[in-house]
Amino acid sequence: MNHECIIIGAGPAGLMAALKLAEAGVRVLVIEQKINMDKLNRACSMQFIIDDDYEDDVLKLEDGKLVFTKSGLEVPYDGKLVPVYNKYYHSPKDHVIRFTRESGKAPLSYKFDKQHFLKSLYDLCAEKGVSFMMGTLVMGGKDLGDEVQVRVMHDREQSTLSCRKLIIAEGVNAVVSGKFGMNRDRKSAATAYCLKYLMEGITGVENNSWNLYYGECYRSKTACIIGPSLEGDGIFEVTITGSPELMPKKIFEEFTTKSPMAPNFRNAKLIKKSGCSVKSYLSMMNPCRGNVICIGDCAAMIEVETQGGFLCGDRAAKAVIAEMEGKNGFDEYTKWWQDSFEFNQPDHMIVSQGYALAFVYTDDELDYLFSLCEGHELHGTYSQYLTPKLIWDCIRLSSAKIREERPEIYAKMVKMGQAEQ
Ligand SMILES: Cc1cc2nc3c(=O)[nH]c(=O)nc-3n(C[C@H](O)[C@H](O)[C@H](O)COP(=O)(O)OP(=O)(O)OC[C@H]3O[C@@H](n4cnc5c(N)ncnc54)[C@H](O)[C@@H]3O)c2cc1C
Repeated sequence: MNHECIIIGAGPAGLMAALKLAEAGVRVLVIEQKINMDKLNRACSMQFIIDDDYEDDVLKLEDGKLVFTKSGLEVPYDGKLVPVYNKYYHSPKDHVIRFTRESGKAPLSYKFDKQHFLKSLYDLCAEKGVSFMMGTLVMGGKDLGDEVQVRVMHDREQSTLSCRKLIIAEGVNAVVSGKFGMNRDRKSAATAYCLKYLMEGITGVENNSWNLYYGECYRSKTACIIGPSLEGDGIFEVTITGSPELMPKKIFEEFTTKSPMAPNFRNAKLIKKSGCSVKSYLSMMNPCRGNVICIGDCAAMIEVETQGGFLCGDRAAKAVIAEMEGKNGFDEYTKWWQDSFEFNQPDHMIVSQGYALAFVYTDDELDYLFSLCEGHELHGTYSQYLTPKLIWDCIRLSSAKIREERPEIYAKMVKMGQAEQ
């Protein structure tokens, strides 16, 4: 057998698993399709989430490191940090819902340099003795019980490697996971295409803020987003999500030239563009089978975020070590996985559908509903689950007023489970 453990993917989850295994003395090989770690290929908004109990932990940023206060995991990081002070939801006529902490004095998240972070982690792994096969694509493989075989392609040559335990940390599209039969019980949800534009010269956007634009007038079926970049004040990232039917390039063109935001882009210049496609599945509720464990985005409903990737990698390393010692590490990992991520909660889908804003309400209705939240400061959370809940809690403070002034909106709210009959 070539290796005690093979890890597919040098993202946050794979690198953290590799580091922790190497520190415990396990012979580990990471296989990564990228040729080197000098460039970040996939679009990512790169924010650290500091919400209490997010993914069942609390992240603190200390001098030169991240500290997960509950699990005790510490990860060195000495790159840039850009605080995000306000998150704004904008309606078509720009009624604004504000999420903030201490009225904009305390950050609600931090933008970080993911490329630098992953490269430093890679260097640390190499220092601790992790072997890397870069520029190598994993094609598939087989769990034979007493060993796992992994088929790879490097320099157009195919070969087969073997190991005792396989960690799949290949990211969201979960292709190799599928070859190992791990997607069998998962429903495939949708494919999204995402483009991120780094731009200067956009007007009317507050520095250090995260802005989501909701409504058909913005030409997208999900929110168009403008957020801070690592490049300093006045340079923003525009994130656009589309689908095979409505490509993000078209949305971007219309958002910047035909939507209510068009005047803000009149003198804007494109600096850089990156993108990715995301084939999303419902979460893999049982991410371990035989000698194989799937961690990070490949097991998730869309994404665990970078910090979630680190937590998965740390836990997976512990699980693999326990399994190698004849203990039941995979069951323990599965329980942690199911309990810790909000998308694994039984009511997640029902609740998040009930929170829907776009599609259900017309632009005029969104203007009305958002206007009811103006003057309120909602807690500065990043959570994609808690955010809409807070919005609807705030809207519901005006239930009697909506029922009287806009009964047709109230009827929709009742239909969507957002208000009582
Ligand atoms: C638009 C967008 C915005 C986001 N914003 C944020 C944010 O603000 N904050 C945040 O923390 N997270 C954000 N994320 C999510 C974050 O990018 C992921 O959750 C995180 O990177 C997951 O880590 P991972 O290690 O599971 O997978 P990945 O980071 O995807 O790493 C997987 C690795 O596996 C390699 N690989 C894949 N297949 C193979 C193969 N067959 N053979 C060899 N190698 C392979 C890939 O090249 C890659 O290096 C965002 C994601 C998107 C798409």
